[in-house]
Amino acid sequence: SHNLFETFAARMRERGDADFITTREGRRYSYADALTDSARLAGALTELGVATGDRVAVQVDKSPEAILLYLACLRIGGVYLPLNTGYTFDEIRYFLGDAEPALFVCRPKVLDEARAIATDTGCPAVETLGSEADGSLMDKARDATPREDIVALGERDLAAILYTSGTTGRSKGAMLTHQNLGSNAATLAEAWHFSAGDRLIHALPIFHTHGLFVACNVTLMAGSSMLFLPKFDADVIFEELPRGTVMMGVPTFYTRLVADSRLTPEVTANMRLFVSGSAPLTAETHEAFEAKTGHAILERYGMTETNMNISNPYVGARRAGTVGMPLPDVEIRITDRESSTDVPAGEIGMLQVRGPNVFIGYWRMPEKTREELLDDGFFITGDLAMVDDQGYVHIVGRDKDLVISGGYNVYPKEVEQVVDELDEVAESAVIGLPHPDFGEGVTAVVVRRPGAELDEATVIGHLDGRLAKYKQPKRVFFVDTLPRNTMGKVQKNELRKRFADAYQ
Ligand code: ATP
Ligand code: MG
Repeated sequence: SHNLFETFAARMRERGDADFITTREGRRYSYADALTDSARLAGALTELGVATGDRVAVQVDKSPEAILLYLACLRIGGVYLPLNTGYTFDEIRYFLGDAEPALFVCRPKVLDEARAIATDTGCPAVETLGSEADGSLMDKARDATPREDIVALGERDLAAILYTSGTTGRSKGAMLTHQNLGSNAATLAEAWHFSAGDRLIHALPIFHTHGLFVACNVTLMAGSSMLFLPKFDADVIFEELPRGTVMMGVPTFYTRLVADSRLTPEVTANMRLFVSGSAPLTAETHEAFEAKTGHAILERYGMTETNMNISNPYVGARRAGTVGMPLPDVEIRITDRESSTDVPAGEIGMLQVRGPNVFIGYWRMPEKTREELLDDGFFITGDLAMVDDQGYVHIVGRDKDLVISGGYNVYPKEVEQVVDELDEVAESAVIGLPHPDFGEGVTAVVVRRPGAELDEATVIGHLDGRLAKYKQPKRVFFVDTLPRNTMGKVQKNELRKRFADAYQ
């Protein structure tokens, strides 16, 4: 059958007493534990009324047990639906109303609120799971009759519904099959040379594709182990690097490490791979990290709807500012924004992807699915990209962030890179705002480095001569920080709202 748990179970039997997940507090699950404990949790889920195809919504703090719950869902064909721990009760209400789960697993301390939301949205069961292996679900699992079986599933059966990060609007539920997750995990484990001896330093959240599927599914495919850290803490990372072999991070992890004097070749000597994704890694950070450690960060590109599509090579040049080449089972094409025909090589267009990793649609959004998932199997990613003459893909930004000023396309990243050259600039975001003459006015929002002095005229003066006139910002605004969501993505929507009246 297509149940991904069959592959994982084979690994669990082979690896037996070897570490699967450990924590700094000394909790440890071996592969054998993963097999028996997922069976217990599967028994509890069944007793709670979760049947094959039912959604299990989960908003809990990061813990190894949450991964066991994910595995238990896979086992019985339940659909795992993790929710961002930052979501408010109102947001949870929306997601439960949308997903109609058979069970909601929440943090112990919000049980009362969760019960109220469950009642309002018609969710029949609520259980708790704490970060110390506590909560009512764990109690039920201890008493439940284990389910040792693995439910047989078809090619299109869902493993998970994962909501997108909501960077460009309301989050959408991406329906991911067992086959989607399994194919991508196998592809990545091979591409990145994972083996049983690897120890992954896991500091990402586990409600997002990066920390959940990329990290955990690849680990399970390879039979390697993970050290689960509750969050990114540079002090802890420096303590653990000598015992790790791989780290996966969002760009902000790397900018913080690079700024730390403890980052040296010695402290990273046991590491074989650093992976970055979820948002663009600047060439500057890539280069600084390599200069300080000798490791070239491997940047890859993916999204909730597809898992990973494009990756820099494990063997071969990992090029700063690019996301590498399509993975072996992924095809890409770059199309014109208006005509949807392929653009000539080297030109910027809409990035589309096709492969066994591509989701089967948005949950209860047939129209959105039809718009973005084409009949020939290609998915319109919403990102703009260019393939250079060596076959490396450059992500230029999101289509929705493209600025059209006076009829000309302005790619924010190109302008941001020039603004960032100024020593006084910590970071910048370039956006388009409604403008009476130009349609949209190119606008820069700048964060100064601590203590630095910089004014609007200096920024514009720096750009003059370096960028064509139509690309130069008409206004520059200064802010203390750029608005970011939990994955470290800059929320340009927020900036566009905040400065909407700039030219009115
Ligand atoms: P929403 O779709 O709800 O607006 P989102 O697109 O941010 O939110 P995710 O699926 O978490 O939700 O993120 C995928 C997006 O992240 C990609 O479409 C791309 O814009 C960005 N991304 C991921 N990896 C990279 C990378 N290496 N470089 C640049 N952008 C990246
Ligand atoms: Mg998206």
